Amino acid sequence: MDIKQLGERVLAGERRALARSITLVESQRSDHRAQASELLENLAGAKRQALRIGLSGTPGVGKSTFIESFGMMLTAQGLRVAVLAVDPSSSRSGGSILGDKTRMERLSRDRNAFIRPSPSQTHLGGVARRTREAVALCEAADFDVVLIETVGVGQSETVVAEMSDLFLLLLAPAGGDELQGVKRGIMEMADLILVNKADGDLKPAAMRTCADYSGALRLLRKRPQDPDGYPKAMMVSALQEDGLSVAWEEMQALTKWRRENGFWESGRANQARYWFDQEVRQALLAKLNTPEARATMDQLGGDVAQGGIGPAAAAQKMLERLNAI
Ligand code: GDP
Repeated sequence: MDIKQLGERVLAGERRALARSITLVESQRSDHRAQASELLENLAGAKRQALRIGLSGTPGVGKSTFIESFGMMLTAQGLRVAVLAVDPSSSRSGGSILGDKTRMERLSRDRNAFIRPSPSQTHLGGVARRTREAVALCEAADFDVVLIETVGVGQSETVVAEMSDLFLLLLAPAGGDELQGVKRGIMEMADLILVNKADGDLKPAAMRTCADYSGALRLLRKRPQDPDGYPKAMMVSALQEDGLSVAWEEMQALTKWRRENGFWESGRANQARYWFDQEVRQALLAKLNTPEARATMDQLGGDVAQGGIGPAAAAQKMLERLNAI
């Protein structure tokens, strides 16, 4: 494969080249990894930036309906929209439930949209790296907005929030007055909370839920990257395409403020540092999982158990051995 040529086609915005490049970064083969690195290095020079929007919500809350309506609204404005997914369940179920084209049929037929389901990987770290690289590829292909979808379970929100400029939390109207068990940590990551399904019979419940979350957000510690009044909770109806343009205006206003006040740059810089840190940790863990390292661990562990060497000294030895692996 001619990597230079592939890169040029990506820069020209060719969708097939983009799809092929994403397949390349998703591959675990070492020769593919080398080609993927080369490709990403070649493209980094273009310095194109999209607005990266992370979107999280539990199954059934309306993520795919929202992405389709919101995406169609953006493409109608002439913007190019890419949709990627981080799916923590795909490794277990074997199939992807996010970023699925059949769930976004209209958008998948839109020439200004590009949809890519989550790769199935055995661990979130792998998915995270591939998605980050796919985001970079979409940016190089000159997409204006990259939407990164995830299910609201476990660690996946952090993964998505750490690669997004804006993080949206999609909620459904609650029956009671409880805060739907949304973890504080997740609320703290949100830039906008969108209470979906604010239509028909569900509208009163949506209003209550929105008021509850507005109150809860006011109680959170103010973050430096927010102007007054943010994060915000608001109502939308993805199905009736209601409130989407207001939500988009909020996203643009917040982005503009962050750009003007240096938080866009610093946010991306902090994210780069975070991912560097993660990559180092993962590389070390991968080393620890090699047969050679396991055997050494077993052997040193045995020595520790028998009192021949202390745990700290043995750990030091282990680290020295790891260097040679
Ligand atoms: P996902 O699992 O989060 O992707 O949720 P879906 O987009 O598949 O939506 C789950 C269900 O909620 C579907 O039956 C949708 O038609 C419905 N739904 C999504 N958005 C809305 C909305 O704004 N209003 C109403 N009433 N139903 C909605």
